[in-house]
Parts: sequence; structure tokens; C-alpha cells
Amino acid sequence: MKKIYMDYAAATPLDKAVIEAMRPFLSDEFYNPSAVYLSAKDVKSRLEAARRSAAGLLGARPAEIIFTAGATEANNLAVQGVGRRFPDAEILISGAEHESVAAPAGLFGAGSIPVDKDGLIILNKLSNLINDKTVLVSVIMVNNELGTIQPLADVARIISEVRRQRQTDGNDLPIYLHSDAAQAANFFDLHVSRLGVDLLSLNGGKIYGPKQSGALYVKAGVELQPLIVGGGQEFGLRSGTENVAGIAGFFTALELAQSVHRDESARLANLRKRFEAQLKVKFKNAVINGGRHRAPHITSITFPGQDNERLMMQLDELGIMCAAGSACSASSDEPSAVLRAIGLSDDLARATLRFSFGHGTTGADMDAAVSALDRILING
Ligand code: PLP
Repeated sequence: MKKIYMDYAAATPLDKAVIEAMRPFLSDEFYNPSAVYLSAKDVKSRLEAARRSAAGLLGARPAEIIFTAGATEANNLAVQGVGRRFPDAEILISGAEHESVAAPAGLFGAGSIPVDKDGLIILNKLSNLINDKTVLVSVIMVNNELGTIQPLADVARIISEVRRQRQTDGNDLPIYLHSDAAQAANFFDLHVSRLGVDLLSLNGGKIYGPKQSGALYVKAGVELQPLIVGGGQEFGLRSGTENVAGIAGFFTALELAQSVHRDESARLANLRKRFEAQLKVKFKNAVINGGRHRAPHITSITFPGQDNERLMMQLDELGIMCAAGSACSASSDEPSAVLRAIGLSDDLARATLRFSFGHGTTGADMDAAVSALDRILING
């Protein structure tokens, strides 16, 4: 039986070019980049070249790129880093954040910006929630369960306005915009000044790079307290001997993702359109979540009356791998917080599957997924 992978939002296979970029640092060029002999200095200079290139892809300066072990760490450094630096200030996050933003924000009693039925933040609620003590607003770029693309440019405009007002009022508390872009790099431009962000989280594991690789963009002047202290690597923000192979893999993956993002977006958007049209025809009471403004790699679909765990396992038996709720979190019986935030009841949240697509996905794979669902739900 052919196995069909439809869980690219959870993990992607390594691109061959990524493996080649990592290989030297896993063998001959194993040196600690902080050592003083020439071979180590060579590794250090290649690490810094990777930082320059990653910065170039984001329109940032090299010193603004902090390499991390994935997006969970980048999100924690952003949220906890700001929270600890400004302990008397307040944090706001969208109601559609990944747990790796929601959990650290919860440590600081963060407020939640409501989302509408499609998972889009409600902008005028954001404006009302920001007060004189707000130091950080965190809004995910592309939601990992629904694919919803948040109106980051509008959020950035609201925050610039608050900054201007604070200058007039003599309030010197900064206000930063953070975005978790873990699901975005394959499909969207990540130029930080065009996005208007002060902090941006990325990871390798979703972009055909290694897991536990990634970065946090920290705009010059943004004040963060480090979470991991020690030898002072990564400009004092993330101590520990650098994972040079991971960084080389991450940067290569980011470069590849950014070079194909327009074509890959268009290709998957077309395939998904057909897939969702077929689903709507076959399964009349099924509902596709997330509205129209969605990244092209995710279909979140609710089959009322069904149990997503069972459905997922039945699909697995037929060779189709997909996810129930958020596959990025360790398994839990709790229905997804994001699905609840968009107004689904617990039963409907537990009846929701996520199919997610990537480089290997073809129209034939999608047809096979529709037939498998048909066998399980209608003609089984
Ligand atoms: N943020 C989003 C939107 C994600 O989809 C994921 C997926 O796992 C993460 C953060 C966590 O990333 P990582 O596994 O690299 O820590």
C-alpha cells in the first residue's frame, strides 16, 4: 500500500541540499566555533556567513539573528525574554497562538486578543486591549491548525500609532510586535520591515530543514532578558556551543523556501482548491474551517458526529497520514484551544481533522485521501 503523507505542517523531510550543507559540520569540521585555532576560526566564519545570509533573506542585520533550537525556543525567548525584562508590563497574544507562545505568555498573565470564526484577530478589540502598560503583542503569522493568515500589517500599523502616542504622552515603555512565522516561511515573504515586526520566530523543521533548528529575529534596540545564560554565545541571548550543522541546515532550508515560495504557494493553492471542492461535494455536512484568507498548505475540516482520533487511525490504516487537532503538541485529550477560540464546541473540535501539504503532495494523493474518507464515512 502506498503511504501518503499529509502532515507537512507537523514535519517536513530534509531537502537533499540541506543534508549536503550540514554534512561537513557533522564530520571533518566539527570544531567549536569559539576555539582559537585556524580550523575553528574557519567554522566560526562559516557560521557568521550563515547568519549574514539568513539576515539578508529577512532584510535584517546579522546581529539581529539569534539562532535557536527551533520555534518553541524562539517563541519562549521572545515572550519570556520581554516578560522578564519588563516584569511590571503586560503582554497580549492572539487567541490563535501555538502553545509555544500561549504557554510562556500564560506565565505572565497575558491577555488574549479575540479571534473571529475564521481565526482572524479582531483588530478593534486589539486596539481596545492595548493600554499604557502593554509591552508586547504577539500575533502568529499563519496559524498551524487552520492556516489562517493574520493581518500583521494592520497590527503593525496599530502598534506604530501606539508608539507615536506614547512619545507624545511621555510614556517611555516600549511596545514590541512579535510574530511566530513557523508555518509561513514556505509560502510568504519574510522581510521584517515589510512585515513591521520587532521579533520573528522561525524554525527549520517545517521548511525541509532539521528539527531543533531555527532563529529569532530581534530588531536592534529590542530589550530581552536571555533565558539560557552561560558562555555568552549568540550576543549573550542564547548561551551554548552553536549547533553549526543545524544552523547550516536551517539557513540553507530558509534560502530554498524563500526562493520557491511564490511557485509553491500557487501550486498548492490550486491543488487544495480542487481537494476542498471534492470534499464539499462528497461530504455535504462537513465544514472547512479558517475562512478564505488561508495559507495554501492546510485544510482543516470538521465532520460533525465523527471522532477525529478514530478517523485519523482509520485513514492511517488506508495509508493516509494526517493530524487531529494540533499535531505539533504532545498528545493530549483536551480539544484544541484554537478550534474552541473560533467557536467550535468540544464535540466539533473533536470531529476536526487537519490535512497539510508540501513538496511531495500531488493531486493524485488528494484524490486518494478523498476516496479513503469516502470508504470510511460513506461506503465503508
Ligand atoms: N509555532 C508553530 C506555528 C508551529 O506550527 C510549531 C510546530 O511545532 C511551533 C511553533 C513549534 O516549533 P518547534 O517544533 O520548532 O519548536
